[in-house]
Amino acid sequence: MRQWQTHTAHSRYFGLFNPAPTTMGIAGEALAAIFNTQLAAWSHGPFAVQTERYLVRELGQRFDSRFMYGCFTSGGAEANLTAFICALVRRFPGYRAKGIRSLEGQPIAYASTASHHSLVKAARIVGMGTEFLRIVPCDSAHRMDISALKTMISEDRRFGHRPFLVVATVGATATGIVEPIESVAQVAQDEGLWLHVDAAWGGFAAFVPELRPYLAGVSRADSITFDPHKMFSVPMGAGMFFTADHDVLGEAFAVVADYMPARDSDDEREDPFTHSIQWSRRFIGLKVLLSLAVAGWEGYANVLRRQVLLADELRQKLENLRWRVVNPTPFPVVCAIHDDQRISVQRVVERVQQSGNAWISIASLPDGASVLRACITNYRTNEDDVLALVREIQLASERELTTA
Ligand SMILES: *Cc1c(COP(=O)(O)O)cnc(C)c1O
Repeated sequence: MRQWQTHTAHSRYFGLFNPAPTTMGIAGEALAAIFNTQLAAWSHGPFAVQTERYLVRELGQRFDSRFMYGCFTSGGAEANLTAFICALVRRFPGYRAKGIRSLEGQPIAYASTASHHSLVKAARIVGMGTEFLRIVPCDSAHRMDISALKTMISEDRRFGHRPFLVVATVGATATGIVEPIESVAQVAQDEGLWLHVDAAWGGFAAFVPELRPYLAGVSRADSITFDPHKMFSVPMGAGMFFTADHDVLGEAFAVVADYMPARDSDDEREDPFTHSIQWSRRFIGLKVLLSLAVAGWEGYANVLRRQVLLADELRQKLENLRWRVVNPTPFPVVCAIHDDQRISVQRVVERVQQSGNAWISIASLPDGASVLRACITNYRTNEDDVLALVREIQLASERELTTA
C-alpha cells in the first residue's frame, strides 16, 4: 500500500476530497471492528443505533431544523440513490408494489451538467433509465439554468411524462459551484417535484457560520446528501441522507422478516434495516461521533475556515502568475487556465503529478473546457504546502514555455 497507491492523505494531495483521516476517526473504525456491532436491528446495538439517530438529527439540523430524519450510508452515491427511491415512493403511490412499469407515464428526474454522475447510476438502478435523468444545461456561471429547467419540464409534460425529482448541487465536484437552490426550490414547489440537494462535500458550509448564507434555500429541500468522509475527514465510508419527511424511509425500505427481531412500535427503537438500503451494517457513526467529540463543532468550524482561506491564498498566488481562476465558488477548490495559450493545462498537471511533490488534477467545466484543479482537501495542508504547489505549477509552466 505504501508503494502502490496515490497517497491521498498527504498534505500535498490537492485532489478529490480524500482527506487525511482524523485520529479519532481511525480509533472509531478500529472500535467498530473490534465490537463488530450489528446495526441492522436496534436490539443488537441500542447504543450504536441511538448514537446514529442522534448524529442524524444533530447534523441534519445544522442544515435546517426540518431535517430530523435520515440514515447513514456508505457514501454520497448511496445517499443519492436513497433520494431517488424516496422521491419515487412519495410521488407515485403504485411504485412500491408494482414498480416503474405500472406508472402512467415515464418518471423524469432533472439535474444539471454540474451534478455528480452517481445520479446516472441511480437512474439506472431504480429502473427509470438514464435517458430520463434529464441533464439541464448550466448558465455562464456554471450553475443550473433555471429557464432551461422550466422548458424541459413543460416539454416532458407535453409528452405525457411524469416529472418527479430535481437535484440541486451544493458544491459541484469539479468546481465547487453552488447552484441557485432558492430558484430550483421554487420550480420544485410549482411543479410538485421532490427537491434533493446533493451537498456531499459542499455541505460542510453548514458548519461554518459565515458560509451558511451559501446554503440559502436548502431549508426548502425534501432531502440532502452529506458525506462526512469528505470535508469532515473521517475514514471512508461515511455518507448521510437527511430528510424532512418522517415516514418516507420507512415507506421505502420497511419489510417484515420473521427471522429478524419483532418491530418495535416505539420510534426510538426503529430498526435501521427497515429504514435504509443496507441490512447488516457496521457502526458508521462512531468515527463521526468520536471525531466531533474531540474537535467539537468549533474545532471543525476553525479547520474548515482555514481550508477556505488557504484556497483564497492559492487563488491569489496563481493569479499573480497569470493563471485565470474560472470557478466562482466560496469553497476551497480552485480551477484555473493560463492566459498564455502556449501553456497547456494537461501538460502542466502531468508535470506536477510526475514531480512527486504535489498532486492536482484536470477537470472539465460544464461547458467542456479543461482546467487545472486544486482542492484543499486535507486538514493538515498549510501555507508551506500551498507555496510548494505554486512553485511546482510555476516550474511546470516555465518548462512549457521553454519547450514551446
Ligand atoms: C463525492 C460526491 C458524490 C459521491 O459520493 P461518494 O461518497 O463518493 O459515494 C456525490 N455527489 C457529489 C456532489 C460529490 O462530490
